Amino acid sequence: MIDREPEPAASTLFCLTCRTVLARGQRCDEDSDHQVRDIGSEPGRSDALAAAWRRVKPEPLLATQTIVLISVLAAVPAAFFGVTLVPADTPWQAADELHLTYFCFAGALAFTAVLLVGQAISKWPRAVRIEPAGSYVGLGLSREGLVGTVALVDGDDGAPGDDHRPVANQVELCLDGDSAVTLRDGRSETFEVHLDDGRVLEVPAGPVRLDAPRARWERIGDGEARLAAAKHGGIDNPHDVGRPEVDPFPFESAFHIEIRLGDRLQVVGQTEAIMEDVDAEGSYRSAPGRRLRPRGVPRLRLLRRGAP
Ligand SMILES: [Zn+2]
Repeated sequence: MIDREPEPAASTLFCLTCRTVLARGQRCDEDSDHQVRDIGSEPGRSDALAAAWRRVKPEPLLATQTIVLISVLAAVPAAFFGVTLVPADTPWQAADELHLTYFCFAGALAFTAVLLVGQAISKWPRAVRIEPAGSYVGLGLSREGLVGTVALVDGDDGAPGDDHRPVANQVELCLDGDSAVTLRDGRSETFEVHLDDGRVLEVPAGPVRLDAPRARWERIGDGEARLAAAKHGGIDNPHDVGRPEVDPFPFESAFHIEIRLGDRLQVVGQTEAIMEDVDAEGSYRSAPGRRLRPRGVPRLRLLRRGAP
């Protein structure tokens, strides 16, 4: 009986700034100033929940200007009504002064009363809303880069029918249409990109950052997206997905993209030459300088699907 190696546990290192799942021990490859947390730990998880759900104070029911305007509108008729309260038998010598006093007093009374009632209504305690919050920090992928075709690793013949097998994929959970992201996770297996200039880029298995126009992404269903959120969030019960107390990856929509053998790619990240490339017999498998590898996490843009 063959013991299968257990699948390595998903990394719990997560960038709060661009919401990207990172490999263990990584700073964020997008920007080293980004805030990275281990959401497998209680403090890290609590920070991720705080980033994913914001408390929104309710707007005042009445704006201050509105309250003042209503108070003035109430004061004017009240002031004129006050004048009518001056006793009819007031001697004419005192009437003018008394009219003015009643006018001002009634107007001021009405103004103050309406102002206080308006302020009380405005400050009436209402529940703080809790809303999901994504990140608008995208992958800052350059528009420049080497172009090539996705291929199997040199020497790996693959299985028949594998011509367009996926070799890398990325999932994004989104809010606000698709413009804010709450979870971005890109993974690749080992593959090569045969560059148009004759060189070969070796992409190792591990994290990868993929870019493509959204129209090329496949929308994934609610169930699958919930599973992705539960897996990365360490949520045992999928019904808890979407609950502010436990789910760091709220979403409204979810997208998925695959890179397959034969696809045309642009390598937008930095690369470096592989200096030693020796095969089992001890000889160079390819001329030095012909083989490259990504510097850091591979950053790739899908240009075109391979011919079917
Ligand atoms: Zn980041």
